[in-house]
Amino acid sequence: MTRTPSRSVAVAVTTAVLAAVALSATVLVPHLRPVATAQVAAQADPRVEQLLARMSLDDKVGQMTQVDRGALDSPQDLATYRIGSLLSGGGSAPATNTAQGWADMYDDFQRTAMSTPLGIPLIYGVDAVHGHNNVRGATIFPHNIGLGASRDPELVRRIGEATAKEVAGTGIDWNFAPCLCVARDDRWGRTYESFGEVPEIPTAMTTYIDGLQGATLGGTNSSVLATAKHYIGDGGTTAGDDQGNTQISEQELRSVHLPPFKAAVDRNVGSVMISYSSWNGVKAHGHRYLITDVLKTELGFTGFVVSDWAGIDQIDGASGFTGAEVAASVNAGIDMVMVPHDYRKFTSLLKTEVQAGRVSMTRIDDANRRILTKKFELGLFERPLTDRSLTGTVGSSAHRDLARQAVRQSQVLLRNDRVLPLAKTGKYFVAGKSADNIGYQSGGWTISWQGGSGNVTPGTTILQGIRETVGSGATVTHDRYGAGVDGSYTAAIAVVGETPYAEGEGDRPYGLGLDREDLETINRLRSAGVPVVVVLVSGRPLDVANQVGDWNALLASWLPGTEGRGVADVLFGDYNPTGTLPVTWMNSGSQQPINAGDGKAALYPLGHGLSYAPRTTTTTPTSTTTTTPTSTTTTSTTTTTTTTTTSPNAGCVATTRIASSWQGGFQAEVTVTNRGGAGINGWTVTWAKPSGQTINSLWNGRLTQTATSASVDDVGWNGTLGAGASGSFGYVASGEASTPELICRSR
Ligand code: BGC
Ligand code: BGC
Repeated sequence: MTRTPSRSVAVAVTTAVLAAVALSATVLVPHLRPVATAQVAAQADPRVEQLLARMSLDDKVGQMTQVDRGALDSPQDLATYRIGSLLSGGGSAPATNTAQGWADMYDDFQRTAMSTPLGIPLIYGVDAVHGHNNVRGATIFPHNIGLGASRDPELVRRIGEATAKEVAGTGIDWNFAPCLCVARDDRWGRTYESFGEVPEIPTAMTTYIDGLQGATLGGTNSSVLATAKHYIGDGGTTAGDDQGNTQISEQELRSVHLPPFKAAVDRNVGSVMISYSSWNGVKAHGHRYLITDVLKTELGFTGFVVSDWAGIDQIDGASGFTGAEVAASVNAGIDMVMVPHDYRKFTSLLKTEVQAGRVSMTRIDDANRRILTKKFELGLFERPLTDRSLTGTVGSSAHRDLARQAVRQSQVLLRNDRVLPLAKTGKYFVAGKSADNIGYQSGGWTISWQGGSGNVTPGTTILQGIRETVGSGATVTHDRYGAGVDGSYTAAIAVVGETPYAEGEGDRPYGLGLDREDLETINRLRSAGVPVVVVLVSGRPLDVANQVGDWNALLASWLPGTEGRGVADVLFGDYNPTGTLPVTWMNSGSQQPINAGDGKAALYPLGHGLSYAPRTTTTTPTSTTTTTPTSTTTTSTTTTTTTTTTSPNAGCVATTRIASSWQGGFQAEVTVTNRGGAGINGWTVTWAKPSGQTINSLWNGRLTQTATSASVDDVGWNGTLGAGASGSFGYVASGEASTPELICRSR
């Protein structure tokens, strides 16, 4: 094995792939700057430097290699190839799929890894994306879209903390979460992994990182390395095509998709995973500008960058990976490659690329410094094996209680003609394919990659939750298809929606309607002449505008996970709903993509959500006090009224447009235009509010409101406006729609 002197081979020979990437990047990114090396600061931990000085090229290449546990030909290969990281892909579990079984597996692998001369511990990653979801018996929390509906960053932090305990209790050190995707098209199969369609919601939910890592990485025995994924633009692909092409300007990429990653870096996220998608035709996995220049240099990210599962294979469009793709990805700034199968080929190709001078030793050392620094910070050298005192937290009642609370807070009451809350007396008929199915209510990434049906893991189904809630006070009859329903029931509850999927398997380019079984079940209930409550278990808004008028209530439950009792808590009034839409709800599938501020008339706008009685105070990432009227039937209409008012004292003017209005509320968009001759660095828009009007949520701005006035500041990325340029913000308010006189001040 050759020990390559670092400086002598530092001149990179540009490969054809790199040339192509650089060329297209130059064309698409006109201001492409010379590539900065973006190396991790040299004042890093002295232990890292000492270790690095003793490592061979084989050791270093090994640290940059991540293998799926199922792809190892023999556990001994971990030592032979000096492999630095293992992962469990979706459903990649030990034969004994219990918390204990995972901890035993982890410890065995770790002992083998540490049997090498330098004894460098492994870092083991999993997708614990809604709880430790590969482990049977773990607590399964709502998927991110539901957490986005809660608008509660502290709740999300606590979920991160609970998940970290369960993950650490099985030995695992690293979680491939949170997904900070901003889902812009509901046809995308990963919409449910998104906290919301506007950058503010995922940005606010980066508190999850604090929950996982703790105040300092390695500061407690349950600190787990977090991953901000998928960098960048995964939720912006054309037509919601998973792994597709995000065709947007750099300004839009920066204003919509970058803010959550910036927030994650500010919170010291330990790793960032690259997106499978392309930006204007160039795969992110080979994009040096995005990874090295923007993420590492501009945002100052000092953790390590990991590729996605076989993501480097896609750089050249042909299947499998080549030396050129290995070099292109590492030179773009990827520090660890999720190979995840052919580790012999990968380690040998990377060595060849280094020896041939196409990847510099400086780059290899930088990648190693980043990875080893995190391993030291996590305390892996001191505490390489599972802390068994945490194993009992997996699926604990304390965590299940937290999950139930999260379920309650994630429910969004979209329509209610006074049938809800239901009384705990009477006779109820419960139907629908998702009523009694833990697998369906948990969705994808649950025990298996794609998710499953039935009792895949212990939990409480929505039907069981209903039965527990009413106790002996009411009778509950259940039939999946609604057979046997008649006019004697107090109400019927249809629990319907989507069956589980993950990633591209969930792309739905051909329509987002309910399936035939669900429509028939609901019709059977309706024909009995009793009030029908529809509970939608789905990873995204569905196209229900043509049916919703026939239903007495509609509750969006998203993918609640194992604690179905939280849904019943809302149906029967034990919890007064507080959830609000983190995405715009389409009026028709043909509107996709539909997002706040795009001028399309939604069925329910971003921020919509009813309660049973006047709400008191709720904290949302983007708003202050919320007062929502007693629920009423909501009919969305579109009015487009425009009022423009000029600023008396500065270069900006602001215009309000009412995008849609309904009984008791409306959604407005405000455009701020710089009318001055010079650029401005920020703006504040103020106005007097008519009495009785309350702004319930606001995006792309920072709101301060009193009973009679509102004031909105830019959020940084939309504050800088060149002469003639415009920025915007939007809001949802209760009360009568109005277009007040706006005063704009610039800074
Ligand atoms: C997904 C990632 C995930 C990885 C490992 C990929 O297919 O895109 O989100 O972390 O697999 O399971
Ligand atoms: C794995 C997932 C991975 C996917 C990528 C599956 O076999 O289980 O973790 O995300 O492949 O396509």
